[in-house]
Amino acid sequence: MAAILLPLVLSIISTAVALSRSSNISVGASLTPTGDPVWLSPSGLYAFGFYQQSKGYAIGIFLAGIPQKTVVWTANRDDPPVPSTASLLLTTDGKLVLRSSPEDEASIVDSTETIATAAMLDSGNFVLYNSTRGKIWESFQHPTTTILPGQQLSAGKQLISSISETDESTGIFRLAMLDNGNLVQYPVVPYPNTDGIWYSYWQSATFGAGATEETLYLMKLDTDGIFRIYSYKLNQNGNRSTIYESSTDKCDPKGLCGLNAYCVSTEQGAKCTCPPGFSEIFKQDNSSAGCERNFSLQSCKSNDRRNQYTMKRVAQTEWENATYSELSLSTVGDCEAACLEDCVCEVAMFKNRRCSKQRLPLRFGRWIGSEENIALIKVAVGPNAPTGSGKQNSHIVILIVGLSLIGFAVLLLVFGALFLRHHVFTYKRITTDSRSIKMYEDVVPISFTSVEIVRMTNNFEEGIGKGSFGTVYKGTIPDGPTVVAVKRLENVSSQGEREFQTEMKTIGRTHHRNLVRLIGYCHEGSNRLLVYEYMVNGSLADVLFTPQERPSWNQRVEIARNIARGLLYLHEECETQIIHCDIKPQNILMDEQGRAKISDFGLAKLLKPDQTNTMTDIRGTRGYVAPEWHRKLPVTVKADVYSFGVVLLEIICCRRSLNLNLVEEEAVLEEWVYRCFEARELGKLLAGDEVVEEKQLERMVRVGLWCVLDEPTLRPSMKKVLLMLEGTVDIPIPPSPTSFLAAI
Ligand code: ATP
Repeated sequence: MAAILLPLVLSIISTAVALSRSSNISVGASLTPTGDPVWLSPSGLYAFGFYQQSKGYAIGIFLAGIPQKTVVWTANRDDPPVPSTASLLLTTDGKLVLRSSPEDEASIVDSTETIATAAMLDSGNFVLYNSTRGKIWESFQHPTTTILPGQQLSAGKQLISSISETDESTGIFRLAMLDNGNLVQYPVVPYPNTDGIWYSYWQSATFGAGATEETLYLMKLDTDGIFRIYSYKLNQNGNRSTIYESSTDKCDPKGLCGLNAYCVSTEQGAKCTCPPGFSEIFKQDNSSAGCERNFSLQSCKSNDRRNQYTMKRVAQTEWENATYSELSLSTVGDCEAACLEDCVCEVAMFKNRRCSKQRLPLRFGRWIGSEENIALIKVAVGPNAPTGSGKQNSHIVILIVGLSLIGFAVLLLVFGALFLRHHVFTYKRITTDSRSIKMYEDVVPISFTSVEIVRMTNNFEEGIGKGSFGTVYKGTIPDGPTVVAVKRLENVSSQGEREFQTEMKTIGRTHHRNLVRLIGYCHEGSNRLLVYEYMVNGSLADVLFTPQERPSWNQRVEIARNIARGLLYLHEECETQIIHCDIKPQNILMDEQGRAKISDFGLAKLLKPDQTNTMTDIRGTRGYVAPEWHRKLPVTVKADVYSFGVVLLEIICCRRSLNLNLVEEEAVLEEWVYRCFEARELGKLLAGDEVVEEKQLERMVRVGLWCVLDEPTLRPSMKKVLLMLEGTVDIPIPPSPTSFLAAI
């Protein structure tokens, strides 16, 4: 169905309007918002130039021939609006530039070729030509929100909705044409479900529609995340009607309501609602950005038990299933009790006698009207429980804290003065009883005593591995029974209790299905131990480099994507950005379902904004560390991208990056891969008689080669890597890994 109808939509009814007429714009021409603001197409239907956006102007293409001014394309859509004094110039040296002020010039197109002429066509396509009338650039190849008649949304291209009807900046929904011809709608930030597949909310099962000479069809990913096809009756003052929409349920677009909120579809549209115990949070433009809990959950280890909890029910709703423990229980009451007893549990979902315990945040919540689904939310009822709205509470808290601070400051000044008078030049080292330092966070990890660790590991009976930081032992947490891996840190710098706890808190907040979970830690005296979830299938090195264990090609592709997802989370999605610094197959562990998870991420130094340039001591492992470590250059997330590239090439070829037993030209993996890529002999890279789809193999190899480039800025971000591995974006031909070395 989609295969038949899509071309129909995309070639859109190409009889709609005359498409070929154009007006030539020569070099030296210019536009200004208040003088000559646009270049019109010959019929006057489309205009290229300035249009008003918030308090300034943006450059774009819009329908000028009808009263409803509809923007169909925007240049540099995320740049701030320019003032009325700005100008757009097609310069005599063949560049198209937007000049906001004498010092501030931005290019409108990404081509470096010299422009000879430009034309705004009646098709809505704005085209730049060189001196031989060859096309250098055309807006039809760079869609933003809209596809016009005759325009193609080719494989790898996408539309991204705008923020609002009046602001064309990048919004929160994406419509992508995949390589397999499937047209899919996603939240703009990719987020995988439990099977590791991106959450999407629509796939192409599209329509067929006729066309008449007077009708213009226009396809748009609207700001509410729904993809619509509109018709404009050109002979009826541009009357608009919607002839297709990907969904009539306004709550279908995933991510519309933000974290922890749930969407209720009403006659008036989608309504975002907070569950009990949560307050709405707002963005700068006052639109809703989800909900946050209006009380804090005490740490599992905290002795402060002032808050008591109860479970509140939100009936007939559905949320993302991100359970960490699923129980078979017969009643909702049992499920509530199970969550109440579990200090880590924040929410439970009860459906068909299954009780799924979850932690925050909640995603993609919506009212579905099914009696079977009940969400159970843990809320506080003790003295710390909120009494008014979250905002009121925070105001009261701010007031109390403010007054206390002022009082405290006055006291401090008085005592400080007295103290200085009597104790100048003397100081006293204040020793801290380590057990008195509590973690005031409402998150795992749990702080264990060394006695508990000894019991857990049966006095360090079963060693399961040894790394550069120390030995790893198998253990069990008695009340679980949960099998754990306990890592006894040996050669680590002497870190203070507070620094260590800060690091633990950061790791504890870092939850992702492709990261090995830190359950707890112990820091007593010189003992430093980390307690991780146990990964039954060993490390990626164990499976990849053992011929009998070698995963199939499809499994390897999935492993690569899972590592990329974990790294993307560390780099861009978790609260504190983390550079892993030691990505290698030994640090990728395999769970019981063969899913890859990154371990040891907590041991990487945390990246605070001003520390980017100061990481010069080489961490990481030979063969996987990025060249900038050796050159004492700033180390950024791109160092992890490099190591990921090396691992990806190892995953493709099932061999180590350096193998001196092989002939010289094959010994260094990235050089060997590049040679095979250049010679179009990628089949040589695969072990044995494995049959792999050539296109997919080349895609993986190209990604790997881009990641291992010497120059960090040329390496893609992990977000881009993932899109490339997923097949959502085109991958240009990679240069030789060392081709930029000479220039540095
Ligand atoms: P390095 O310390 O240089 O990064 P490494 O990653 O091999 O090297 P460790 O992280 O200390 O060192 O791990 C040593 C071994 O212990 C691993 O190879 C793995 O087999 C095992 N191991 C580590 N963590 C776990 C875990 N969570 N579950 C199961 N086995 C684990």
